[in-house]
Amino acid sequence: MKNLLLFILLLLLWQCHPKETPVTKPHNNSKGPVILIHGGAGQIYEGRYTAEEEAQYHQSLQHALDSGYAWLSRGENAETVVEKVIRRLESDSLFNAGKGAVYTAEGKVELDASIMRGSDLNAGAVSGVQHIEHPISLAHWVMDSSKHVMLSGRGAEHFGFMMGLDSVSNEIFHTVQSESNYRRIMKEKYGTVGCVVLDNHGNLAAGTSTGGMMMKEFGRIGDSPIIGAGTYADNQGCAVSCTGHGEYFIRYAVAHHISQTVSNGVPIRDASSVIIHQTLKNAGGEGGVIAVDTAGNYTFQFNTQGMFRGVRNADTTYTLMYEE
Ligand code: ASP
Repeated sequence: MKNLLLFILLLLLWQCHPKETPVTKPHNNSKGPVILIHGGAGQIYEGRYTAEEEAQYHQSLQHALDSGYAWLSRGENAETVVEKVIRRLESDSLFNAGKGAVYTAEGKVELDASIMRGSDLNAGAVSGVQHIEHPISLAHWVMDSSKHVMLSGRGAEHFGFMMGLDSVSNEIFHTVQSESNYRRIMKEKYGTVGCVVLDNHGNLAAGTSTGGMMMKEFGRIGDSPIIGAGTYADNQGCAVSCTGHGEYFIRYAVAHHISQTVSNGVPIRDASSVIIHQTLKNAGGEGGVIAVDTAGNYTFQFNTQGMFRGVRNADTTYTLMYEE
């Protein structure tokens, strides 16, 4: 009897233990770190924004890239840098993530975020959170300190509070731009944010954070918090963050598809280009991706008029908004 109880106890403990994930050996990254970010894709075309607004977007993107690159150069690991860079963008009301996020049809802000580490395929995601200032940090907590991959709504928030995160009012996400500016930009606001990196240790990570689509039904979940749809990272393939019409990115499991295709030997640019410019476009899905592999190859692909984006590695750095 005693043995049976002991056996049941051991079985329960074993089931509660976080799942084992395969660990891939980091490869030597002699070329140095690479960081790519996006700030959303959509009808972003010359003439839509004032020169001052354009300058603000470039400055914000470049600042995030420079900080991320400095952290990577100091040897910080991929997922830590992804989280820190996305936190910065979540605090910037230019984007549709954290502060400045779009409203649901109910007039609330509901935030989604996810993060994934390419060395062991561990991942964390949260959806529909209303009272967490930095959803990307909550997703990182889910990845590191829970046995789950995805938590939603009140459960996600409850877990965050247990981890020591503060509860914030939903009002803090509401933008304080001038009324007319606000109305114009909020009419069709783009600005999901994403980051993919290759760190100094040869490991990849990806993360995405968003307020979702304008006027979404309350409770709607897009691709951004779905591992495999909006975010994916695998050292055997690549790290991917998506932005655009989430329903299509979910249907085509875009982020995983690109990584899988790269792991089969297809160059990252081709793998991303085919799904964005052919598969999604033919289906009517608009959006874009950023991706990087462990050799430091990277790509931006989008089938919309523009995408806020930028890159930094040992050889180059730039930020762009429109098609080039
Ligand atoms: N992909 C996001 C969503 O569907 C929105 C976006 O990237 O603009 O929630």
